[in-house]
Amino acid sequence: MPLYDYFCKNCGKKFEIRISYEDYGKMDVICPFCRSTFVERAIQPVSVVQSDQFRMVQEADSDSFNEPYDDPRELGKMMRSFKDQSGEPVAPEFDEVAERLERGDSIDSIDQDFADMDID
Ligand SMILES: [Zn+2]
Repeated sequence: MPLYDYFCKNCGKKFEIRISYEDYGKMDVICPFCRSTFVERAIQPVSVVQSDQFRMVQEADSDSFNEPYDDPRELGKMMRSFKDQSGEPVAPEFDEVAERLERGDSIDSIDQDFADMDID
């Protein structure tokens, strides 16, 4: 099973947990230190993309941005143009995700690769 890195927003500690792809997203992840469920993936490129930066991309180009997941290349292009235009610092994963999307990799495969990656 893949090992996922999580960060507890309640106590601020990082921990790792094994979750099968089937269970991932279905089960609650509980912080082993404080039992809080207020946790998030420490490395989760798609979430990085879908979070603040992604929303900004969507807002910036909402007219042509209806079904981003249908075409990873379009999404990758959009991420790049957003980055170029904003000039803001982006997460280290941002470039790699954008590049892979432009090559036509699916978001799922990118997410799984990152999930399997040993970040220590
Ligand atoms: Zn905690």
